[in-house]
Amino acid sequence: MMEKIGTVEIVPGKKSKGYIPFGSDTDGTPFRIPVLVTAGEMEGPTIWVHGCIHGEEYGGAASIIRFFQELDVRQLRGTFIGVPVMNLPSFKARSRISPLDGANLNRIFPGNPKGTYSQRLARKLLALIEEHADYVIDLHSGGIGAQVPFYAIVKDDGTEGYEKSMWLAKRMGANVIWRSGGEMVVDGTITGHVLERGIPVVTVECGGGNVTEEHEELFKQSILNAMKALEMLPGKPPVQEEYKIISNAEFFFTREGGLFIPSCQVGDFLKKGDLIGCIMNLYGEVTEELRCSADNAYVAAVGHRYWPTEPGQLIAEAIPVEEEITSEIPVA
Ligand SMILES: [Zn+2]
Repeated sequence: MMEKIGTVEIVPGKKSKGYIPFGSDTDGTPFRIPVLVTAGEMEGPTIWVHGCIHGEEYGGAASIIRFFQELDVRQLRGTFIGVPVMNLPSFKARSRISPLDGANLNRIFPGNPKGTYSQRLARKLLALIEEHADYVIDLHSGGIGAQVPFYAIVKDDGTEGYEKSMWLAKRMGANVIWRSGGEMVVDGTITGHVLERGIPVVTVECGGGNVTEEHEELFKQSILNAMKALEMLPGKPPVQEEYKIISNAEFFFTREGGLFIPSCQVGDFLKKGDLIGCIMNLYGEVTEELRCSADNAYVAAVGHRYWPTEPGQLIAEAIPVEEEITSEIPVA
């Protein structure tokens, strides 16, 4: 029997489009989650790539669509499954949370088949991944209000799944990898629960706000590189001379409202005491300064210049370098 995902039949040697029907909007309009499948005629693994689990992080969605269009099916071993927008209600509202139930979809996995729409959706998406995927790539960005640099995130639960995820992350083009362990592993994120099921998974972070050609290129390259590493496409994936493994993020929430003025750029490495940015009120007075509390901390997110900022808003993230790896030891 032909493998099927939603309405899409996975046919070797073909590109196929269709959707996963899942529930309906307030007015009864069915939600149809688009699925783009390319299946090679040669045997190989199935890679599942999704975007917009946070609906306002649409750089990943656009890049999946472009990657699918450009993918040469004749060169492919195995199957590419692209799901540009996992969270349709949140995408439609251009919001990190769902307008239907206020949930952040990426904090409520493994979901609940009898819960709110987002909880049911989480359960459905996880079941589909478990059924179809050998590897998962999870695309994110800073959303509308912030920028992030190009880097990868891997959850460390100490299992072989982690080792394979890290092996893959090191071949996707980024030289900065956030290794998140401890309580952060199975914390309601999709990646934590995918890993718990033994499926290697890497999150890619890039851009935010406007999607530049560079952001699109970095997202597409990361997918391409992963598929080269898995020998699904010809060519060697890039291996970096040095990796910076970052850990124990510091999150910066504003105390005051006003206009945010960043003093650093995403991808910078800051010293303890360096200025992240400040808040200026509408009289031009600086009412708050945000400073980095650790040495050698990677600026992993920062809000836009002069954007209005609420008190208590998450405005930046800095993640200290925990380890520098210069010689690559293959683990898979
Ligand atoms: Zn996100």
